[in-house]
Amino acid sequence: MDGKFSKIFIGGAWIDPESAGRIPVVNPATEEVIAEVPSGTPGDADKAVRAARAAFEEWGAVPPAERGKYLGRIADVLSARADELAASISAEVGTPLKLAHSMQVAGPLAHLGWHAELAEQFTWEERIGGNLVVRAPVGVVAAITPWNFPLNQVINKIAPAILAGCTVVLKPSEVAPLTAWAIAEATEEVGLPPGVFNLVSGVGPVIGEALVRHPEIDMVSFTGSTRAGKQIAAIAAESVKRVALEMGGKSANIILDDANLDDALAAGVRSCFVNSGQICVALSRMLVPRNRYDEIIEKVKAIAESTTVGDPQGDVQLGPLVSSVQRDRVRSYIERGVAEGARLLTGGVEPPAELPTGYYVRPTVFADVDNSMTIAQEEIFGPVLSVIPYEDEDDAVRIANDTIYGLSGAVWSSDKARAERVARRLRTGNVRVNAGGRGRGAPFGGFKQSGLGRESGLFGLDEYVELQAISIPD
Ligand code: NAD
Repeated sequence: MDGKFSKIFIGGAWIDPESAGRIPVVNPATEEVIAEVPSGTPGDADKAVRAARAAFEEWGAVPPAERGKYLGRIADVLSARADELAASISAEVGTPLKLAHSMQVAGPLAHLGWHAELAEQFTWEERIGGNLVVRAPVGVVAAITPWNFPLNQVINKIAPAILAGCTVVLKPSEVAPLTAWAIAEATEEVGLPPGVFNLVSGVGPVIGEALVRHPEIDMVSFTGSTRAGKQIAAIAAESVKRVALEMGGKSANIILDDANLDDALAAGVRSCFVNSGQICVALSRMLVPRNRYDEIIEKVKAIAESTTVGDPQGDVQLGPLVSSVQRDRVRSYIERGVAEGARLLTGGVEPPAELPTGYYVRPTVFADVDNSMTIAQEEIFGPVLSVIPYEDEDDAVRIANDTIYGLSGAVWSSDKARAERVARRLRTGNVRVNAGGRGRGAPFGGFKQSGLGRESGLFGLDEYVELQAISIPD
């Protein structure tokens, strides 16, 4: 086993974990084990939390601008290793290498570096009446993250937490944990004070839950499935810990009858399939006007069939799914779709014939989907698109909102005012109009069972502060 991944990072030192248990990390394209990481125990969690607690008071007293500078330097160190990080994420997640460079590494590192500037923009304290209102760090934060965008999800948590003056224990996904070691190395290289950032690893129900239960953890910041998020929130409630939850989605893409169809359909299919559909904001329900239905499904089928799938090292749009477990899960949803009466337009459960090795699933499109079907209600997290016809604008909004989720959505129309009107009616944290992308500084997060709280920029920073009013007589 690679020596580097056999250690965990606690209190500024690389130490041996309590147990000799290991978790294999598998390359989903080759099915080979590429590394092993420690299967952490509650004892490891306890050590890490104690180190974070010991560092907290001093770190919270460091001026915010200085805290921000550390983050800027960590971003610089990681940027110098961008090629290595992209290769590592591509190998553990299966994201095509080119996409891994842009989406998995460059974007997130730019976001991390930006925290140096955010330190200057945030209102750390203000006078209101006779009070000094202080935004104090929440305390010791447990950051628990998923596998689909392993660097991005970690940065979205540790950057605002560290900038706010919190100290952190990170538990990355056991499925794609490797970049977390590079982050720990970068914190060491820039001289971040020991204990501000700590890294443990292992499975959720063991070391993850131990963190959530730990009395010295003040806040749990979680990204992952709604199933695990609910369990975490319930456990955290026992000791009234703050929670921030970024969870699943089943987002609707409303294509209005006046939309530029070629643009809307190409972007819609792409947004459902990117990262092989393993993205929380996937627009996995495409809502289309019934009066243009036949024309639309023919076009969607053709776009899906022209989507290239293959070795992530090559020039392809989709790689494999992250694991055999995920592939089997997605296949079972495809079977369920057929069983419940949806029409399989293209794709299906058989793997692509030319890819006998690797956890590949063909880009799959279902037509004639009723929104009550399982494939329209549950997050599949694979390259599976459901096309659902609607009668009119009200019907489209009703279908879009008929879900337990509320993460993202999109509206396509040649009339921007109309699109905005429809967007405002969607009960989701983010909505894209036409090709609109989420600019820097916008909050990210979900309504309903997609989440609690927001990430990104100043909004993300708000999650990691407590408001303290100090009343001082004149
Ligand atoms: P997951 O819920 O299985 O695991 C996420 C993390 O939580 C992992 O680190 C895991 O070990 C840990 N965990 C699991 N059970 C736990 C428990 N009982 N206690 C403590 N920790 C526990 O999710 P996943 O399969 O890694 O990721 C896919 C999910 O993440 C999808 O549902 C996706 O929508 C969601 N996601 C959401 C966002 C967002 O920003 N809203 C972003 C990316 C992914």
